[in-house]
Amino acid sequence: MKRYALAVLPGDGIGPEVTAEAVRVLRATADLFGYRIDTTEYPLGAAGVAQSGDSLPPRTRDAVTQADAVLLGAVGDPALAAAEGRRRPEAGLLALRKLLGAYANLRPVVVHPALRHASPLRPERLEGVDLLIVRELTGGLYYGEPRGRDAAGAVNTLRYTVPEIERVARVAFRTARERKGAVTSVDKANVLEVSLLWRETVSRVALEYPDVRLDHLYVDFAAMRLVAEPARFDLLLTENLFGDILSDEAAVLAGSLGLLPSASIGDGPGLFEPVHGSAPDIAGRGVANPLGAIASAAMLLRYGLNLPEAAAVVDRAVAAALTAGARTADLAGPGERTVDTREMGDLVVRLVLNRDRAGAGQGVA
Ligand code: NAD
Repeated sequence: MKRYALAVLPGDGIGPEVTAEAVRVLRATADLFGYRIDTTEYPLGAAGVAQSGDSLPPRTRDAVTQADAVLLGAVGDPALAAAEGRRRPEAGLLALRKLLGAYANLRPVVVHPALRHASPLRPERLEGVDLLIVRELTGGLYYGEPRGRDAAGAVNTLRYTVPEIERVARVAFRTARERKGAVTSVDKANVLEVSLLWRETVSRVALEYPDVRLDHLYVDFAAMRLVAEPARFDLLLTENLFGDILSDEAAVLAGSLGLLPSASIGDGPGLFEPVHGSAPDIAGRGVANPLGAIASAAMLLRYGLNLPEAAAVVDRAVAAALTAGARTADLAGPGERTVDTREMGDLVVRLVLNRDRAGAGQGVA
């Protein structure tokens, strides 16, 4: 029997609540497909600080590099908002991404038909929205040197090397083959030298993938199109800063942060986590939406363990739960009945195992 070892980092706030459901769903796929998933939990973020004074403790650091893939909840604790250095929960997450060499961040946004009303955009604009942002994650303005402040001002450095652009572009082109065979590369090549290099390099990599169409957009125009005609996009490839902003803009389309998954892949084991944070305002009440974490588990199956069939089963179960009318509090309209975190997890597990499909909506929703 094939065995996979996962490092699970539940983190802080609602992180442990949502990862628990994602792990149950992963176990259900193992039952269904006949493989074995071994999970071990390690501290990260404020949980790491509480245990060892370090937001990325050494034993977590060792474990993640040995694992087949890493499933993460969320980090962040208001009590540590003013903490510095390795005692900042978010510092542990950044160090983790760097440690894993996770240079490509994949963020899909799918608008489920039953949730079009939950978005601030008009429902008709959201019909058919199914896009993926591939963001460069370990280079660019957030990491460039020199950086700092002096009496006269402040400086950050935007720098990309050709290999850094090539490797993330290859992830985008490979992924495009599994989608609609199209890449839209986003830059600011009318102003920035780095963007000119980006555009030239992506165009050259495109020659390796003659079956994938490539077009280029300036980031300001892409930002407008993303809300004006989001269904026109399929796969957007962009650098770190632009990707940070565009992926948060795209997140609004889906209606709730609680739905959105992400994958960060690169040299080492992949890192899979919901887009949302630790949500201290609702933590400990068992009401968080686990679907972002569960969809991240589906990405773990697809991109981390190369089990696309199992991933598709989970994606279909998530969609079926929403079709059946199951709504956590963040998704519910006025007067709509809600399910809690555990009940939503239960339903997805049942749908994965193909049990209770007919009665799914009535049971808990
Ligand atoms: P947040 O994503 O934690 O919460 C924003 C809002 O969305 C809150 O009202 C929250 O209740 C709601 N929300 C988020 N996830 C939800 C879910 N699954 N179900 C239902 N509602 C959900 O962002 P924030 O409040 O700006 O940050 C809180 C903490 O999380 C901070 O410490 C921040 O640094 C950290 N953070 C961590 C990550 C990460 O771990 N990747 C990402 C963003 C923020």
